[in-house]
Formats: sequence, C-alpha cells, structure tokens
Amino acid sequence: MASYEQYLQRQDNINSIVSCLRLLGDMTRRELCDRLKLSWGCVSELSSLLIHSEMLLEKKSNGGDRGRTPLLLTLNPKKRVLGTDINTMGISCCLCDMYGKVIKEQRFDTDFSDKSGLLKSTTGAVLETLGSDLAECVGIGIAMQGICSDGHLWNFPTEGGSFAVATSELEGLFQIPTVVEHDPNCILLGVTDKNENETTVMVRLDNSIGMAVYANNGFLKPGDMELAHIVVKENGRKCSCGHYGCLQTVSSISGITEASGQPFDKLAASAQTDRAAKRYFEDAGKYLGMALGNFCNLISADRIMLCGEMAGYKSLFAESLKQAFESTALYPKRTRIVYSDITNAAYGAAKLSLINYFFKQSEEKPNVNAIS
Ligand SMILES: [Zn+2]
Repeated sequence: MASYEQYLQRQDNINSIVSCLRLLGDMTRRELCDRLKLSWGCVSELSSLLIHSEMLLEKKSNGGDRGRTPLLLTLNPKKRVLGTDINTMGISCCLCDMYGKVIKEQRFDTDFSDKSGLLKSTTGAVLETLGSDLAECVGIGIAMQGICSDGHLWNFPTEGGSFAVATSELEGLFQIPTVVEHDPNCILLGVTDKNENETTVMVRLDNSIGMAVYANNGFLKPGDMELAHIVVKENGRKCSCGHYGCLQTVSSISGITEASGQPFDKLAASAQTDRAAKRYFEDAGKYLGMALGNFCNLISADRIMLCGEMAGYKSLFAESLKQAFESTALYPKRTRIVYSDITNAAYGAAKLSLINYFFKQSEEKPNVNAIS
C-alpha cells in the first residue's frame, strides 16, 4: 500500500495532469510524460484512473500517421465545478466547466441570522444553481467571509454580533468534494495571472474588510490576513471581534453605517455636499491608508488592489487614503494603488476546486501555496 507521502505525490501528479490538459489542451499520454517529466507508467496509471472516474475522455487525434494513432486525452466537457461566495451581502454562485469557463452565475439575497440559516441557504443556492448538472459536479469551492480561527472555525459577522461555522460543517453539506477558503484569497485567485510575479495585496471593502496577499507564486499564510482587525483607534467603537477601534469599525460599510447611524447609500449621497457626512469617508480612507502603509513597511508590495462594494465610492475617500498611505509607508512610490470592480470570489472559489481536484481523498488539504 502506498504511504501517505506517496499518495500526496500521486495527488500532485493527478492535479498536474488535469491542469496541463486544462491549460494547454488535449494531449497524448506520451506528450503528458514529456511535458510533466513523469514516467510512462505514472501517466498511464493515473490517466486510467481519471478515465474510470469519467474526468477524462479518450478521443482520436487527427494526425493520420502510419501505424497506430495514439489517442488524445481530453477533459470531459460535461463535468462541472461550482464556486460559492458566502458573505454578509448574500450568496453568489458560479458554475464552470473543467476549463474554468463560466456556464452560469446566480446571486441570492439571503439573510444570515444564525448558523442553521447560513447552512440551509447555502445548500439551497448551490442546488438551485447546479440544477440538472448536480450529477456532473466534481468539486465545490466555498469562499467564506469572516475570521477563521485555527483554519477550522469561521466567525461569521452579523448585525447582532457573530456566529461560528466549522469548515467541516460546510464541507459536509454536499456529497461532493468541497474546499473552503477565505474569500479574499478566492478573489485574488480569480484575477491572478499564473505568470504573475508581482507582490499583490488585495483588499476587499464591504460590510467587512478582507485581505489577501500573493507573493512568490503563492498566497501568504492563507486565512490569517485580518486587516479588518488591526486596531487603529484608541477608545474606538466596539468591533464584532470584541476589541475596540478595529479598522472594520471605521473603514467598512457596516462600520460607517453604525458610526453615522444612517443608511450607507443615503450617507454617501449627502457626502457629495455635506462636510459632516463626507468626514466618515475621509476617516475611512485615512485609517485604511495608514493600515496599508504600515503593512507595506513590513512586506513591500508592488500593487494594492482595492475592490468590493465600497470601492465604488472611491471618489469620497481615495484622496485621504493616498495621503495617509504616503505619510505612513517608507517607500510609497514602490506601490501602485489601484481600484477594481472585480469582486468575484465565487469564480475564484470554482477555480480553487478545479485546481484542487481530488484533494478530498487525502487526509489533509494541499497547501494553497502549491497553486501556480
Ligand atoms: Zn475587530
């Protein structure tokens, strides 16, 4: 029987074969051997396994050379992966084929008041999006908002505080291999080019603040980038984490809404002319700029990408953010700050489950850093 290490090695090879066919197109077994520097025996055994599980199909190549024409291996076009983004604004689902092409996207407005509501809504959203493709779905990726303690427990923020959901509870919802990841990492995965060699910091601003860092071809310590809970204000407002004066209390939509006591849209509209209303946005920019400047003093970033619903209001806070960043970061010119309207964590989650195909059969999930 293969040892655990040998199994992991096989798993990497399986993922390499699937990724290779996904990114470079159909290939013969021999071409896969050459491209992946794997032995004939290995490619032959693993491709049989993948054909048996209907992940791969064999098809005739068009090359009409003499003798036996080698068969091409191709990904089964009927198979699907589904990405789900769960955050306080609702649930978004994104159904993709094995090449990462989006087949269907669907959004569900949901009210998460407790754990059972969240689990129930997630099941409903996933099943509705999958529809008749349920039997063909080979993987589900879940992008999760909230603080992840120890990589197993997600503290999901709500208006009245927060509740905890375990990774295993989310994984156990479906009879399909499921991977759960911090939502900023999923967004970043959705937009990161595989040849990217810049250090990119992605910050998602909406009811919470999420952060992901991509450096040296991998995510930095996935799940631990809690920029939202950097304390920026002494004696500030109480945060959902229990501390006071966290960045989330001043620079997120929920923080601004709570501090001002006004609906966010209304406040943003009056901030165009009203100084007092604009002050909330300028403070949001100032504290965020300071936090990012401090971060760049620890880890030099080439690019900071700001996205999320609040990025749509950048005209109200971008200038104060820039000023605070420049007076905090030691080398502000090294870093470009850009705004993006990409918030598609669901697509990144689908991609994550695509890349980690078969991960569920091991006792431990592969490190996200292995993604390339
Ligand atoms: Zn906090």
